[in-house]
Amino acid sequence: VSSPTGWWPTSRSQLPCDDAHPSRAPGPAQPGAAHDSGAAAPTIAIVGSGPSGCFAAQSLRKRWPHAEITVFDALPVPYGLIRYGIAPDHQGNKAVSRQFDRLFERQGVRFVGGIEVGTQISYEVLADAYDIVVLATGMEADRPLDIPQSPAARVVGAGAIMRGLNGDPTVARELLGPVGERVAVIGTGNVSLDVVRMLVAPIGQFTGSDVDDDALTGLRRIPVRHVEVVGRSPVARAKFDLAGLREICRLPGVVIRPVGLTSADTGDFADLLRAAEQEPPETATAEVRFRFDSIPARIDVADGKAVMQIDRDGSVRDTVVADTVISAIGFVHRVDRPDQSAILNQPNVFVAGWRRRGAVGGVAANRKCAQEVAATIIAAVEAGPPRPPRPGTRSVQHLFGSGVVDFGGWQQIDAHEVQNARAGRCRSKAVNLRTLHALGRREALSCSV
Ligand SMILES: Cc1cc2nc3c(=O)[nH]c(=O)nc-3n(C[C@H](O)[C@H](O)[C@H](O)COP(=O)(O)OP(=O)(O)OC[C@H]3O[C@@H](n4cnc5c(N)ncnc54)[C@H](O)[C@@H]3O)c2cc1C
Repeated sequence: VSSPTGWWPTSRSQLPCDDAHPSRAPGPAQPGAAHDSGAAAPTIAIVGSGPSGCFAAQSLRKRWPHAEITVFDALPVPYGLIRYGIAPDHQGNKAVSRQFDRLFERQGVRFVGGIEVGTQISYEVLADAYDIVVLATGMEADRPLDIPQSPAARVVGAGAIMRGLNGDPTVARELLGPVGERVAVIGTGNVSLDVVRMLVAPIGQFTGSDVDDDALTGLRRIPVRHVEVVGRSPVARAKFDLAGLREICRLPGVVIRPVGLTSADTGDFADLLRAAEQEPPETATAEVRFRFDSIPARIDVADGKAVMQIDRDGSVRDTVVADTVISAIGFVHRVDRPDQSAILNQPNVFVAGWRRRGAVGGVAANRKCAQEVAATIIAAVEAGPPRPPRPGTRSVQHLFGSGVVDFGGWQQIDAHEVQNARAGRCRSKAVNLRTLHALGRREALSCSV
């Protein structure tokens, strides 16, 4: 299993974290000494157990060793896109979850999984019950492909495919049928490379991964022979990480063909693609073509296949024919998720991670962002007037319902998945919500107070 370092471009991971409360600029990361009294520490609810929620919990725990910190997640399992986004063959990138385990195992942070805030507990109730609320709910939907397209064309989001390959129980299994021999992938970022690799890498490359085999074999039931990666920007401005592109270029049996590069196209990406084209494999199983400066304009259907028109400088340049078009053009907030707007302007509510900055940057960017948000919170609490403490979890736990999974419950799920891993897999995930809940059920919940 490969795990390229620096998967996400440094320039993106260093994006500044704009302040959701402009009047309160982030302070230094660790002001003063840690409070040592539970009485002085605030009650804190964090919504979302992805990297930004967990990094925020880490920083706040460091400052307030005795604070009551509760991390809620809609799913009965923690860690957001670490579990359900990062490619299953990039286990090294998923390993950050081990440092988050310590929060829940040893540092007294509580995990309350299987509760969608805004549905089972309203955001308003949460903001009343806790001194501090951090919204770290991510960006969950594929950005829609906003071009005219025939409803008969098969167009699927890359995020949905990656979630499916990661065993996300919320992905409709119908999405994971064969993509066909010819696939067009729109977008030249890292998620697009992840999808391409999952579709054309020899199956043996997934040894040691936790890929969902049913999803993988379903998507690849008809072997993928031809992938066309289409991006708007010139090659030099593609958003790939070089390590990720190199990984594609080194896949056994895969022919790489950059289309339309000219002598004006320079830089690492162009060099890498040209070099890969010069060294084709002896036996080819699939071809991946890269087109840059190419704007998908519309998708029609002919003979049961998607026919994508590609424009350059406003004129028709070419068409790409595909069984499936996969759009990897970013992520937006899922519109069917509960509305947070009622509490966004409350002084005790803060926003972190992708929910705050948009879907830009990897895990490292969220660490920086969450640390900055935590510093803002710490500064606000310490500068604020003395306040009557809010009760925290004990005042809302009657709303939890019976479907709650605590960290011990997650550990039961985790152990089951690892013990029941199929041959060649490091785990085989339970892909059904009911099964996850059943595996995570416990006699006495540690999230009760
Ligand atoms: C396909 C893909 C591959 C990626 N690969 C890499 C990689 O290799 N390396 C890397 O560094 N980065 C990678 N990233 C980026 C990385 O996953 C994100 O930067 C990061 O997960 C964003 O963190 P977050 O905590 O803001 O959001 P998320 O990870 O999305 O976490 C949000 C959490 O909030 C929960 N939630 C949402 N709404 C509610 C609610 N109402 N109530 C309760 N809980 C709720 C969700 O269930 C989820 O657990 C990848 C992203 C994608 C999509």
